[in-house]
Amino acid sequence: MNKSDAERMYGMLEHIGYTQTDEPKEADMLIINTCSIRQLSEDKAYSQIGVWGKIKKSKPDLKIVFAGCVAQQGGKNILKRAPYVDLVLGTQRLYELPNLVKRIETGERVVSIEEKPFEESEIQINRVKGVNAWIPIMEGCNNFCTYCIVPYTRGRERSRKPELILAEVKKALSEGFKEITLLGQNVDSYGKGVNETQNGFEISEGKEFGKDLQGNTINLAWLLRQINAIEGKFRIRFVTNYPTDITDEVIDTVIELDKVCEYFHIPMQSGDDYILKKMNRRYDYATYKKICDHIRSRVKDVTITSDFIAGFPGETEEQFENTLKAMTELELDYSNTASYSPREKTVAAKWVDLYVPEDVKTDRLARLNEHNRACCLASNKKYLGREMEVLIENFEVRKNGDKVITGRTRNNKIVHIPCNRDLRGKFINVRITNARTWYLNGELV
Ligand code: SAH
Ligand code: SF4
Repeated sequence: MNKSDAERMYGMLEHIGYTQTDEPKEADMLIINTCSIRQLSEDKAYSQIGVWGKIKKSKPDLKIVFAGCVAQQGGKNILKRAPYVDLVLGTQRLYELPNLVKRIETGERVVSIEEKPFEESEIQINRVKGVNAWIPIMEGCNNFCTYCIVPYTRGRERSRKPELILAEVKKALSEGFKEITLLGQNVDSYGKGVNETQNGFEISEGKEFGKDLQGNTINLAWLLRQINAIEGKFRIRFVTNYPTDITDEVIDTVIELDKVCEYFHIPMQSGDDYILKKMNRRYDYATYKKICDHIRSRVKDVTITSDFIAGFPGETEEQFENTLKAMTELELDYSNTASYSPREKTVAAKWVDLYVPEDVKTDRLARLNEHNRACCLASNKKYLGREMEVLIENFEVRKNGDKVITGRTRNNKIVHIPCNRDLRGKFINVRITNARTWYLNGELV
């Protein structure tokens, strides 16, 4: 989501005369787009602007913009804490950036963190040329998992207008992109958002887009069908799914539509029923397993990945071991892992008495990662000897002179292939010759 927001910022700024530079010391304006999902990323953001503050001492006209989730949380306190910051840009005010930049150019210092989405205009996104285009379809979250800051930093669920999404997809395809990834905190909620100000509707909780001209309900499955109908060879993915919100209609699109890939990212967070309840997740382990088994039984070669948190407040050794068991039992193909990080405002952060000691969290995270590695390797081994379609994303000449292309299969496995030609953006057939923990080796067929 941050990568996509950053692309949007570049796109807007190019329209008002800015160009991109990789050298902070030469820039007229520096923007940090922050993440606050865990304490570490927040700390990094503040330490980075500290460095930029020093640059500004010898370059007083330099403008510094603090954007994203940490900005949303910190608001005007950021101007106090970091007096060299010119603009604090909240997550729902992204599209206001060009107007705000004009104001800071005249010397004003501005905080814009209102929890009211700034209307999106038909801006043209100037994407850095590549293979994969990340396109947001919905934003925000209504779930309030007790550990998570997202509902506080990104606001309530709201969906982008289908016309804007489809226009953006077509533009990306016309520029040569070959894979479209639809983004959202909960993509299954597409169409159900609260903010339809962009569509001329008034804001009302739970309001749906309604129907298209043929009377079909506008939801994720509908959107996938619209995008799949666009001509040309390309792939479609979507992230992230909330386990119990995945519909059969969406699973059907993966089976029926040629462009929609066999890949689901379905965060489980914990394999223990008590902890899941404490996390305010709306499922228990048996329910998650049922969903996972159902998808695996319907979609051939599907990859299912997940997210897990180690050391949630009150988690016992036994409860943690249930997570390890779940990972293995469900044969998860890959998982993102993190140790629990208390976040301001969230419910679980208040359970200080139940905090798991740092050394225990570190130990559990290490064991979680160990398990994850074993699951990944086992998953990769399933594809040994198979012929798979790979979309090439990288071409690299290694220090020893070897030339290697790297890409992903439809089910999101990374494959390295020796090849002298730069085949970026091409779909090629590859035979899998070796399975490593994080990737596969293959050869052209
Ligand atoms: N909407 C997605 C997750 C978005 S946040 C979902 O519901 O599954 C991405 C991941 O960050 C989460 O899945 C969770 O595993 C992790 N995360 C969120 N808050 C965290 C915290 N306080 N400490 C550690 N990890 C956290
Ligand atoms: Fe929303 Fe929970 Fe996902 Fe956070 S982890 S974004 S609260 S569903």
